[in-house]
Amino acid sequence: MKIAEIHIYQHDLPVKNGPYTMAKAQVWALDTTLVKMVSDTGLIGWGETCPVGPTYAESHAGGARAALMQMAPDLIGTEVAPLTLHRAMDGLLNGHNYAKAAIDIAAHDLLGKHLGVSVSELLGGAATNRVPSYYATGVGTPDDIARLARDKMAEGYPRLQIKVGGRPVEIDVEVIRKVWEVVQGSGMRLAADGNRGWTTRDALRVSRECPDVPFIMEQPCNTIEDLQKIRPQITHGLYMDESSTSLNTVITAAGTGLVDGFGMKVTRIGGLHPMRAFRDICEARNLPHTCDDSWGGDIIAAACTHIGATVRPDLLEGVWLAAPYIQGHYDTANGIRVEGGHIAVPTGPGLGITPDETLFGPPVAEF
Ligand SMILES: [Mg+2]
Repeated sequence: MKIAEIHIYQHDLPVKNGPYTMAKAQVWALDTTLVKMVSDTGLIGWGETCPVGPTYAESHAGGARAALMQMAPDLIGTEVAPLTLHRAMDGLLNGHNYAKAAIDIAAHDLLGKHLGVSVSELLGGAATNRVPSYYATGVGTPDDIARLARDKMAEGYPRLQIKVGGRPVEIDVEVIRKVWEVVQGSGMRLAADGNRGWTTRDALRVSRECPDVPFIMEQPCNTIEDLQKIRPQITHGLYMDESSTSLNTVITAAGTGLVDGFGMKVTRIGGLHPMRAFRDICEARNLPHTCDDSWGGDIIAAACTHIGATVRPDLLEGVWLAAPYIQGHYDTANGIRVEGGHIAVPTGPGLGITPDETLFGPPVAEF
């Protein structure tokens, strides 16, 4: 089965009660890019990539579409096989994993439909039909975030990620302590995500001032060198998110004991094919991790849920979705939803969702 057509669409996803605030970014609406891949057998697969604004990572929406337009003409006629496609894409464009991920996800959807199996079956088999999610708070005041923690605990979320950074670190310490007063004894797990926004001085101070609060510190500082510097001095678990830009950085971070786990984004690492290798590296080293993406609609949500379902359950820190923060679904019947802090794994072949393409308007490019 070969690729016969590639159609690229742009779509806006408005943020509910925006903006969503992180240490280095405020987001009012998401500019997402969709890929419709049509096979020579007439089947259709969907992919998506959606950078959360231009400053979260080394990616932006216009860059995704430009990279896809650079590769797409030469992918027509290529076998719909993830490994073959990645080698073909790497031969056409260096880097730009987040754009390649949209092609990768579409190919998995298409291949699953062709074989009559779900994407989680393609990725090795689901360990569960319902994965845990977690709630990410946004940067807010101590009282607001403590209130949100109470609400999300009541909804059934097993984990809360508190966004910190981009302001005086004393406020971050106060937020962490207030949230702990709320969730202590409940079993709800905590992460404090700096999104690269703390200096090493800030990270060391927070760890020293909250020794009794068992949160993990996610990407507190900007660089791998910063993480290496704080690693021997903090008492909290350290996870890498934004710095894990490729399998190569993941292998080094896991192999040298730099981190205790990962926040991992499917599109940042290049899609589901490299993500399964990442999953297996983590399992070999007993390292917990999330299976997320940097926002996006139902297509990305389905991809994250399928790979999340294949992770050894005691290592899965959760699947984060943008669905609770954005308006609407591409598939009103089978769109991916968080219910009771958990997500049902879609059934049906491929990703298990059928986007309503009339939502996306005319394609921005077709090959
Ligand atoms: Mg993160």
